[in-house]
Amino acid sequence: MRDTRLHLDQPLAAGGVPALDAAATHYLKAVLRARPGHRLRVFNARDGEWRARLTRLERHDGTIELEERLRPPVAEPGPTLLFAPIKKPRLDWLLEKATELGVARLQPVRCRHGVVEGSRPERLEQRIIEAVEQSERLSVPALLPEVELLAAVEAAVDGVVLADEAGGAAPLPTLAAHPAAALLVGPEGGFAPEERAALRRMANVFPVGLGPTILRAETAALMLLACHRARATETARATETAS
Ligand code: SAM
Repeated sequence: MRDTRLHLDQPLAAGGVPALDAAATHYLKAVLRARPGHRLRVFNARDGEWRARLTRLERHDGTIELEERLRPPVAEPGPTLLFAPIKKPRLDWLLEKATELGVARLQPVRCRHGVVEGSRPERLEQRIIEAVEQSERLSVPALLPEVELLAAVEAAVDGVVLADEAGGAAPLPTLAAHPAAALLVGPEGGFAPEERAALRRMANVFPVGLGPTILRAETAALMLLACHRARATETARATETAS
């Protein structure tokens, strides 16, 4: 069984006795049925990862004692994903898998054919944190408030690689040419013709095709993220070999 690994959004330092938040308390008490003495790892992007021991667990709160730092904080660079919200449970799946694949920012965008039914941001953030804990990341990707599609694209200073079901360039060379670009995937109903036309007129938009079949929005997002990760991994390996 995996050991317990919890994200704690508060300072973690030698000798510290951090208090557990409500979600961590509930998880330890109700899910794991943990007792004082239970060993765990806690982490955040600012302070890295620490070995810890549960010292007190009440109904609504608890405390832990930090023993030693296991990993220092480290930069976890990743792309921004612009996506049109889809219905749950597929939205949950998208957020979980995007987090595993290293996304840094999740930017929902409003499209003509998008879903209007909203999910509570706190629920979605909890899903993201669970994926961070499971995947051994230190940083939690930011889930940003929804913005208008074209406003989000205009604001992307390093450009946007657009997954276009109407076709485009090959993804890997495009991502190699624009490594800091955001990634954009359209809504379940596809881009409206005027949205596609506007996107294709913009100088900072680089359309790519993802093959001959039509992918669901979440599959297209994961394929783009996987391509991004494959390219970034290759670049990192080449840099290591050269040094
Ligand atoms: N309803 C649209 C249709 O039938 O043409 C399909 C939309 S698709 C479910 C949702 C999004 O996934 C698209 O807007 C696009 O961003 C992406 N996508 C799906 N298949 C793709 C492909 N083969 N190449 C590039 N992008 C694709």
